[in-house]
Parts: sequence; structure tokens; C-alpha cells
Amino acid sequence: SANQSTSTHLQPASTEFDHNAVRAQFPLLTLGNTQQDGDSDGDNSGQGEQQVCYLDTAATSQKPQCVIDAMTAYYQRSNANVHRAAHQLSAAATRDYEAVREQVASFINAASSREIIFTQGTTSAINMLSYGLTEQFAKGDVILVDGAAHHANIVPWQELAKRTGAIVKPIPLTNNGLICQQGYQTLLVQKPKLVALAHVTNALGTINPVADMLAQAQQAGAMTFVDGAQAVAHLTVDVSALNCDFYAFSGHKMYGPTGIGVLYGKFEQLDKLTPMLTGGEMIKTVSFSGTTFGELPNRLEAGTPAIAEVIGLGAAIEFLNSLDKTHVSNHERGLMSYLQQQLSLLEDINLYGLDDSSEDGSCGTQSVQPQSTNVGALAFNIKGEHHQDVGILLDQQNIAVRCGHHCAMPLMEHLALAGCCRVSIGVYSNKADIDRFINGLKEVIDILV
Ligand code: PLP
Repeated sequence: SANQSTSTHLQPASTEFDHNAVRAQFPLLTLGNTQQDGDSDGDNSGQGEQQVCYLDTAATSQKPQCVIDAMTAYYQRSNANVHRAAHQLSAAATRDYEAVREQVASFINAASSREIIFTQGTTSAINMLSYGLTEQFAKGDVILVDGAAHHANIVPWQELAKRTGAIVKPIPLTNNGLICQQGYQTLLVQKPKLVALAHVTNALGTINPVADMLAQAQQAGAMTFVDGAQAVAHLTVDVSALNCDFYAFSGHKMYGPTGIGVLYGKFEQLDKLTPMLTGGEMIKTVSFSGTTFGELPNRLEAGTPAIAEVIGLGAAIEFLNSLDKTHVSNHERGLMSYLQQQLSLLEDINLYGLDDSSEDGSCGTQSVQPQSTNVGALAFNIKGEHHQDVGILLDQQNIAVRCGHHCAMPLMEHLALAGCCRVSIGVYSNKADIDRFINGLKEVIDILV
């Protein structure tokens, strides 16, 4: 099957963390990128320029060869629609598709694969959830939303509020953009109906103390949702241990393809959602006198799904599982602290989102929470300079970072910023990437300051 064929392309898991072997699995980072060499033969020979220094993994990760191969193999050898025909090809495609659901369930430690719904991504998952909850919400119900959330974890709740008369309240932030735990606890007294948090914030890379926060939300009787888009590639996610009601993430940020994501939900909670999309395989019976819906997970997967993308997601999970989690985590954390240390050595740099637990401002002290740390991403500005100028000048050196509001305008407003630059890393990133970025940034400072 397409799914099984991927395993031949994987490096064997080794006890030593051979980082070069991991990086070598990403063709865009090793073969050249057409964007810069101007020719599409992938040999990076066009203008003799340097390979891209890719530090925008939080926007989307690069893809290992095994993911590309798994999707190609599906189209070349197994292409058929799932869940429909009686023929063997369709049965094989269905088997591979459903095998990935099992893989996802064990990847995030869900109790059952029926709790895994394939979506187009995190945005689509949150829209499915917020729409699906409409009938459970009434006027005056309170929805607490992480004040540093991505727009995809804000706007669908605002839309739910518009439909139902519910009220969205932002969870206040500390001066440096971390969640204010005292402010959160004050809001929980209002007995919110739902609490929506980010596991890791996309703009700043800060890890929220979600386990603790979810426990408090449950104590207050709230339903809970966690946006894991920035967490799944960097942290071990265990939805059973977190005990959240819902969790969402995107394949493309964890070395898988675009167009695929996951909404996890506890079975009894998912089962109560009103399907946003209807038709196709989500039905049990259809009649002009009345239609009945099928069971989970099909009930929430109307229409032909993104089959090749699901197969690609399975290959991405296989890729991640082939790596030693502790080695990867140590490698990434080592790079992040090296990055932070190198940035701190430069004058004229403001760093954002770092722990400010010693602050005792309007938020009060942070002593009730374990300290937040960063994972995967770090945000900064050159003092007095516009973030877009910095991005353009880095791009001229073929260094790719993200500069803008990072789909987190309320957070930017809170930090009194028009925007900022974000450096983000993945499993393939290395010290040479950070050094090249820092040297590039020094040149930018020389030009601008
Ligand atoms: N939530 C967070 C925290 C994100 O970082 C992103 C993507 O940047 C999203 C949601 C939206 O993900 P997608 O565009 O894959 O739907």
C-alpha cells in the first residue's frame, strides 16, 4: 500500500542523533530551491547563490522525502475513492486512509481513532468545532479566548457569539505577552461555557501551561479547546493526559502536506456537534421525508476527503516517530537558546515573549504557574526599524523569516507593536542556520541603524 511503501524511504531510527542524516531527508534544504536559482532542475546551479536559510517553519515546515514519496505512491499505485466502491483498489485506499486515523490517535494518545476527524487544517477544525457547538450555546454564555491567540482561534468564536448571543472575553496577558494567570482565574469565576487556549503561541513561541489551565477550566465547569498548531511538531502531545475536550492541529506544520489537519474530540463531545458540512459519506439514510446522519468519525467528514494528504500525514507521523523525541527536543531547545543568546549580544534588538515572571505589574505575580518557555520560535524587532524592512533585507540574503502581525493582531496591539520578525526552527535546522541568520542580521543593522 502507499502507506506501507513509505517506510522504505525512512532512515532507520538510531540511538545516536545523526542530525545531518535528518536534514538530508529534506530535498528543498539540500537540493536547492527554484526560487533562488531561477531554474527548475533543482541542482542549485543557476546563479551560484547560497542555499535558502529557512527559518520560517512556524508558517509551514519543509517536507521530508518520505512524505512526498507516500503521496506520489498513492497517486501512482493506489488512487481510488475511500469508503465507497466494492473494488479492491478502493478497499486498499480505505485501509490506508483509516490506518492513518489509527496512527494519529496513537500520536496524540486519543482513546479511540473514532475521536479523530480529518479536516483541512487547524482553521478548518476550529470552524467545524465552533459551528458544531452553535446549538449548545445561548445568549450570555461566556467564551474565554487566549489573548495571544492566532486569528483562527479568535474569529470563529466571535462568529459563534454572533449566532448565539454568547460573549467572547479575552484572557488578559502580562506586559510581555504571556497569559496572566491571575486574570485567567478571575475570569473563571464567571463560569465560562468554553475556554479556548493555544498550546504554543505562534507569534512568540511561548508554551502555555495548558495542563494546569485546563484543570482549572474543568473545575469551573467549562468545555475546553486547545489549538495545537504550533505544538505538535515540537512537544509530545497527550490529549488523554491533558483531558481537554477538543484539540486541533495542521499537517503542514509537522512535516506533512498542506490541506490536511485534525480535530480531536472526546467521543461524547464530538458526537454532540452539529455537522457543518453535509452530504457524501456522513449520512446513514437519505430520504425526502427526512435524513439521518451516520456515526463518528464519518458523521463529521462529508464529501471525498483529502486522501493523498491523509496518506502524507501518516508518513509525517512515521517520520517523527522514527526520531528519538528526547534528541530532537534537546537539539531544538539547544538551537533556541543559542539563538536567544546570540540575539541578546546584539545591540538595538528587542526580544518578545520571554518569561517575565518577576514582573509584578497590573497582572500581579506569576508565582501560581510553572514558568513559560519558548519552543520553536522567537520574535524580535530592531529598535526603531520597521519589521518589513528587516524581512526584505534578510530575504535579499536568502534568509527566510516571517515579519508581520503573525495573525495575532490583538497580541500585537497589547505589545504596542505594528508587527515583529519571527525566527522559527524545525527538526532540520542547525547551528549554521542560526549563525547565517545572525550574520545576516548584523548586515541589516549596519544598513538600517
Ligand atoms: N493556530 C495557530 C497557533 C497557528 O500557528 C496557525 C497557523 O499559522 C493556525 C492556527 C492556522 O493553521 P492553518 O493555517 O494550518 O489552518
